[in-house]
Order: sequence, then C-alpha cells, then structure tokens
Amino acid sequence: MSQLQRLVIAPSQFENQHITLTSAQQHYLWRVLRLQEGDRFIAVDGTGRWLLSELTSSPDQARVLDELDGGTELPIAMTLMIAMPKQGMDDIVRCCTELGVTTIQPVVSDRTILKPSPQKVQRWQRIAEEAAEQSERRVVPQVIAPGAFSTIITQWAIATPHPIESPVEHTFENTFTGERSTRKGYVCVARQDAPHLLHVLTQLTVTPSTEVQNIILAVGPEGGWTPEEIEMAIAHGFQAVSLGQRILRAVTAPMVALSLVASVMECVGLPARSA
Ligand code: SAH
Repeated sequence: MSQLQRLVIAPSQFENQHITLTSAQQHYLWRVLRLQEGDRFIAVDGTGRWLLSELTSSPDQARVLDELDGGTELPIAMTLMIAMPKQGMDDIVRCCTELGVTTIQPVVSDRTILKPSPQKVQRWQRIAEEAAEQSERRVVPQVIAPGAFSTIITQWAIATPHPIESPVEHTFENTFTGERSTRKGYVCVARQDAPHLLHVLTQLTVTPSTEVQNIILAVGPEGGWTPEEIEMAIAHGFQAVSLGQRILRAVTAPMVALSLVASVMECVGLPARSA
C-alpha cells in the first residue's frame, strides 16, 4: 500500500466518499503519473486521514474506497516556534516536517533580520506539504503567519505569567485562550547552565504530571535570544533547556531539538493522547 502515490488534498475536496480533483491534481494523476480509471492512490487530507482512492471515468472525480491507518505520526503534537534565520528557513520547514512537527510558528525576535512576505509563508506551507508526502506523514504541518515574539509567546503561553489564583508553576492554564492545555514549552538557550532537553524529556516520561499533548520548542535566530526574551519565555511557563555544550547553528538547533523529542516520544513514550 505504501508504494501507492500520495496526493495532498484539502479536506473540503472530500465529500460523499468522493474527491473532487483540482485541474492541477488531475493533470498530475492522469498526465504526469499516467494513472487510468480504476488506478489507486492515497489522498492525504492534512488532518490525519489517509484515504485509499481510485480514479473514476470522470477525470475530476476519485472514489474513496477505504480509510487507512497511516501510523507515521508521533503520539503527541510537536510545535516549533522559530525565530526565522536569515537563511535556511526552507530547510528547517522541510527537515522538521520529516521529523514529525505538527505546527511551525515563525516569530520575529529582537535579533531577527528576515522580514518575511506572505508569499514566503505560502512557500513554506507548500514545502511542508511536499515533505509530508515524501515522509509518508498523515498530518501536513501547518505553517502559521509570523508574528512578534512578544505577542506569540503570550498566545502559546503554558502558564500564567503572574498566577494569582493558581500560583503553582506550570499550571497548564493558558490565560490568553482560557483553555486548560496540556502543553509543555521549552526555550532552547545556548551558553547557559540549563538542563539538557533529553534529560528534561526523560523526566517528563518518568513522572508525567499530566497527559502532555503538545510539546512546544522555541529556537532563537543566528544572534540568539536576548536575555529579556528568555526571561519572557520563562515567565510564560517555558523551561530553558540546553541542546549540548556546542553552539549549534540556527538551522541545526531545531532539527536537534525535534529529533530528541520525536525519539523520546517514540522510544520511551508518554501516556497515550486521548484526542
Ligand atoms: N549566536 C548565539 C547562538 C545562536 S544559535 C551565540 O553565540 O550564543 C541559534 C539558536 O539555536 C539559539 O538561540 C538557541 O535557541 C539554539 N541553540 C544553539 N545551540 C544551542 C545549544 N547548545 N543549546 C540550546 N540551544 C541552542
């Protein structure tokens, strides 16, 4: 089954056990791949569904035969908050998709040089789709529009910055959205006396305080985070972590961080995600 060609579709294209193909998709399936009526492919709708489908006699219609178990997703969601480096965002999006990222949130930090255009975000979304197909993902990661670090950190806050009613550290209550989340956030900091991410993750799996559903990793730009940004992240419930004694490039650091999370979650595991 895995040899079948995968095609990313929008969830809205799937209705009544049929997929309405766009003209670009028709061209790809009929002309480029030279599939014919009755030939099968897998439609990936980006929400985690793999639909075994076959071409019909109408070129713009495919019939859905079955829903498959893709089995390539991590047991948790993994979010990358990335202060966009001047160069290398394409590689970050591609490689992090291969590693299992579910959401990429680019941020503009104090030392960010790149000012991305909306076209860039679309381009990164396309790269994520291609990489998801390539690595047989069921979920196509979502690339969110960039925002200022100070704003975004509030949106992704893990704990209340000034807890009044619940002064416990890491309450998992997000004051911004009001949602009781089961997130854990880590801000990667070089040259500081922070515990290693691997150590922290292993502790998490040994003594799970709650069912973790989303792990958020914040990685700085070439010039690093400013001390104020690190403080702000910590005030919003993020924990400072190290990725080792060497200084990694801004493009390398997210890949290292995400591979650690993916490996620990796959090899050690956490209580299963209910959602
Ligand atoms: N120019 C900075 C390093 C920036 S590296 C300096 O010389 O200190 C870019 C980002 O990668 C950092 O902000 C951090 O988030 C991450 N990073 C790089 N090496 C790391 C390490 N050893 N531990 C944790 N994070 C690291």
